[in-house]
Amino acid sequence: MSATAVVPGAPRPTWLAPLLPALRHALLRRAFDGGKPPLPRRVFVNRNLRLERIRYVGFDLDWTLAEYDREAIDTAIFELALGFLVEQSGYPAAIRADAEFRPAFPRRGLIVDRQLGTVLKMSRHRYVGRAYLGRTPLTQEERFRLYRLEPLDLGSDRFYRVDTLFELPEVNLFSELVELGRRDPSRIANRSPQALFDDVRHAVDSIHANGSLKARITADLPRYLPRDPELALALVRLALGGRRLFLITNSDFAYTERLCSYLLDGALPGLGSWRDLFDLVVASAGKPSFFRRERPFVPLSADGSEGPEVAVPSWGGVYRGGSRDGLMALLEVPGEQILYVGDHIYSDVLTSKLRTTWRTALIVRELEDELEIAAEVAPELRHLSALREELSDLGHRMDDLRDVVALACESGENGEMLGAAGARLAELEAQHAVLRQRAAELQRRTSERHHRIWGPLFRQGSNQSLFGAQVKDFACIYTSRVGNLARYGTNHYFRVLEDPMTHDLAG
Ligand code: IMP
Ligand code: MG
Repeated sequence: MSATAVVPGAPRPTWLAPLLPALRHALLRRAFDGGKPPLPRRVFVNRNLRLERIRYVGFDLDWTLAEYDREAIDTAIFELALGFLVEQSGYPAAIRADAEFRPAFPRRGLIVDRQLGTVLKMSRHRYVGRAYLGRTPLTQEERFRLYRLEPLDLGSDRFYRVDTLFELPEVNLFSELVELGRRDPSRIANRSPQALFDDVRHAVDSIHANGSLKARITADLPRYLPRDPELALALVRLALGGRRLFLITNSDFAYTERLCSYLLDGALPGLGSWRDLFDLVVASAGKPSFFRRERPFVPLSADGSEGPEVAVPSWGGVYRGGSRDGLMALLEVPGEQILYVGDHIYSDVLTSKLRTTWRTALIVRELEDELEIAAEVAPELRHLSALREELSDLGHRMDDLRDVVALACESGENGEMLGAAGARLAELEAQHAVLRQRAAELQRRTSERHHRIWGPLFRQGSNQSLFGAQVKDFACIYTSRVGNLARYGTNHYFRVLEDPMTHDLAG
């Protein structure tokens, strides 16, 4: 029997000992009653990851350790930003009553076209599969005219990517204002789509930064922040064997302290303070810049006062600012031995992946719903795939007949054979049209089950969505919540099951 030892000979931290009975109890219960985690709670693997090799695990806070209640926080952001537009940006007071909150509208992974005021969903090939102007869908012809004639430069200022759940109410408010403006431009003070987007962005940015949103959240934590009973267990299990955990968040320390204490203090028998779990806390980190530029760490004391800047932080400290380079000087291991867990595909995962060799875990809260719906629609999808096979078969036969007809015409034949081929072709075409319509209807129905407007999160038509492709390319592993890690051993080997090429799936 091999003992768990991530850091050979590492002393067990004193805070860990009182927690071990609770962890042992949970593991035993699972070993007898559990087995493999249910699909929606599983960790999925894009790149092999041996936890055994991971010496440090870093966490993001918002939407990673702290999973907000979506409807509650979306409502708060929508209302506060709307108020800001009226009070600070000169918007007509009537928009408070006019703007309708439609929480089901936005989705992660969408792209906002600031120039035209549209919201788009793209495939990994940047094909715009769905588009809305305000609350109104664009037709296929409109999408073609606007987005197929020139290549789209997603890196330009024209496009804004909706990468985190924090941004959903912003897209919602923007689309609502675009819709109001379509009906009567005076209702939005005649702003252009671009000005509207910039105003909404500024309003949302301000309510995050000026403390009004945070004040609302901290005044009623139970409403905004459901607790996950598995969260503390996951952290303790990961910390076995001398592995160290750290926190890097863009939130300020006072807010971090409020949230983490609410979520973790006393969450397990023997766990006093959340601070025990993390050997280093970096607040106001300014990701993604944290991964890109040099910035000193500013030590923070318990009374909130700041000490002199340091280039390299120390274990046990609380800091604001900082940068990857200073952190790496403390960790003194190759980047591959560090795992960073975050929810922001760009700030947490893509940037850390491009700027470091850290391994990455992405938290995708929507995964649970996506998997549950996928299981429900599986029989319909099998039917759809059978229909597509049939369509493809018919298509081949129609192609042959069309070429027979074309050849006959070219060579001036006009005999019986041509008549028979033409009649058979017409028959197959009619059959094909019926099946195609049936397939389109089935595709529409299954897609709507995922999301009435935007369809499945990870797919666009037959392709991966742009978001799905980013998850695949940049997250080594992904799962719906941090608590799911409690269901895996501290040295688990996350192994890729398959990574098929298209031809692997044929046949
Ligand atoms: P993290 O996810 O823990 O790194 O931190 C997210 C922090 O960024 C939270 O404190 C949010 O309030 C804050 N935040 C999110 N969006 C914005 C924004 O648009 N402007 C300013 N702060 C933001
Ligand atoms: Mg976050």
